[in-house]
Amino acid sequence: MSGIRTDLTGQVAIVTGSTSGIGAAMAEALAENGAHVVLNGLGDATETEALRARIAADHGVEVRYHGANMLKPDEIADLVNSTVAEFGRLDILMNNAGIQNVAPVDEFPEAKWDAIIGINLSSVFHAAKAALPHMKKAGRGRIVNLASAHGLVASPFKSAYVAAKHGVMGFTKTLALEVAEQGITCNAICPGYVKTPLVENQIADTAKARGISEEEVVRDVMLAAQPTKKFVTYEELAGALLYIVSDAGANMNGSWISVDGGWTAK
Ligand code: NAD
Repeated sequence: MSGIRTDLTGQVAIVTGSTSGIGAAMAEALAENGAHVVLNGLGDATETEALRARIAADHGVEVRYHGANMLKPDEIADLVNSTVAEFGRLDILMNNAGIQNVAPVDEFPEAKWDAIIGINLSSVFHAAKAALPHMKKAGRGRIVNLASAHGLVASPFKSAYVAAKHGVMGFTKTLALEVAEQGITCNAICPGYVKTPLVENQIADTAKARGISEEEVVRDVMLAAQPTKKFVTYEELAGALLYIVSDAGANMNGSWISVDGGWTAK
């Protein structure tokens, strides 16, 4: 629960990659504010169904799940089109699905490069392309791309991820210009480090491997780049998302909200 309020009653949102981490939290923040939500992502079917049922019960909205693989354009189109077929509208598309791989360029596996570009960048294009005819017809829509501080600056050994996230920023600006007069906005959110299950699991392991405390891992290893030395929270990201999708966000277009503790100010 984000505890942050805006009125999205009756609206319909798709959040890609929402069976875990940031996507699950953003889907719940939208549901908490009245939107019907379509979850998407890979992972354990029982856990996904439990998440779907809990969000629906806690917030009194319709919650569906669609298993589109973000590497497959036809499945992405079906995610969008089946949502509109069922609910009759699509107000919010949040492109959030993403993966990471860390290796120097000369050792970077080709398959990992292709998967990261496919899931983190190309799926944003495919989902937006499918959503636009519906949003144009309605004369309103919000496309929100979960980019990263790595959409603005680089770190070594993350070439595919940094390239994909910079690509997402370029796509965000281009699409924003194309739809600016049609009631549709396209923006990005650029988080620093967020304590998702994936990150959390690494803390104890890294502490053990380096022989330092978990606090030192967080401060000196993980958050070395993040001036506040604090993880970004789901609530902080929900605040950014809810502003962008609210009526107050109608004139924010082709831009981004950095939620990175000052990382990209350096
Ligand atoms: P996560 O691993 O917890 O969640 C990723 C989601 O994407 C999962 O639901 C997963 O099933 C889904 N996914 C992966 N491959 C998919 C595919 N082929 N098709 C459909 N779904 C797929 O990760 P997270 O940390 O919550 O990351 C979410 C987004 O936030 C990503 O785009 C990531 O790059 C971005 N981000 C994360 C951080 C961070 O510190 N965690 C910081 C900045 C940006």
